[in-house]
Amino acid sequence: MAKYNDSKCRLCRREGVKLMIKGDRCHTEKCAFDRRPYAPGQHGRARKKISDYALQLREKQKVRRIYGVLERQFHTYFTKADMAKGITGHNLLICLERRLDNVVYRLGFASSRQQARQLVRHGLFTLNGRNVNIPSILVRSGDVLEVPEKKRKTALPINAIQAIARRGLPGWLEIDGTAFRGTVKALPQRDDIQTPINEDLIVELYSK
Ligand code: SF4
Repeated sequence: MAKYNDSKCRLCRREGVKLMIKGDRCHTEKCAFDRRPYAPGQHGRARKKISDYALQLREKQKVRRIYGVLERQFHTYFTKADMAKGITGHNLLICLERRLDNVVYRLGFASSRQQARQLVRHGLFTLNGRNVNIPSILVRSGDVLEVPEKKRKTALPINAIQAIARRGLPGWLEIDGTAFRGTVKALPQRDDIQTPINEDLIVELYSK
C-alpha cells in the first residue's frame, strides 16, 4: 500500500490550515504552521491568483489529509456517498467520520488519527467484543469499542479524559474512561463535524 513518508507539517503549510496530524505537538510552540504559516518551497510566500479548480483541489486534499486517506480510497468514499440518499457532501464527511481510526481519535484514545490507526492495526481494541485491526471499518450506531483488560497496561494512549477535556467529545459518542470503553450512541450528522470544511467544493471537483 502506498504511504506518505515526507514531512507531515508540510501538508499543513500547503493547505494553509492546521490539520493536527502530529497530535500533542500540534498544541505546542513547535508547530511548524504557527512558526511558518505559508506554503513550503522557494515561492511559498508569493501571492498567487487561485483558480476555481485549485480551490476545489485544495479542499479535497485538505479533507483527505485530515482523515489520512489515500486518493483511491477517498474516491471510493465519494462514489458511495454519491450513490447514497441525501446530500453527497454530507454523506462523504459522515462516511469519513465513521472510520474506526477516527472514532478512536475522537474518543481520546489516541493523540492523532495517525496514532489511532497504528493502535488499531496493532490490535489494541475490540469492537462489540471482537478483535479488530482494520482502521477503515465504518462503525454503526450502538457499536462498543473497548481496550481489553490485558492490553490496558501496554496501551500508549490512555489519557482519554484529558484529551477530551481539550478537544471535546462529539455528541454522537460516549466514553467511559475508567472502563476504557466508548460507545457510538448514534451515527454522526453533518453538524457534529466542527472541522472547517467546504464539502461543496469537493463535490464540484468530482462532478467535472
Ligand atoms: Fe500541522 Fe501539527 Fe505539524 Fe502544526 S505540528 S504543522 S498542526 S502537523
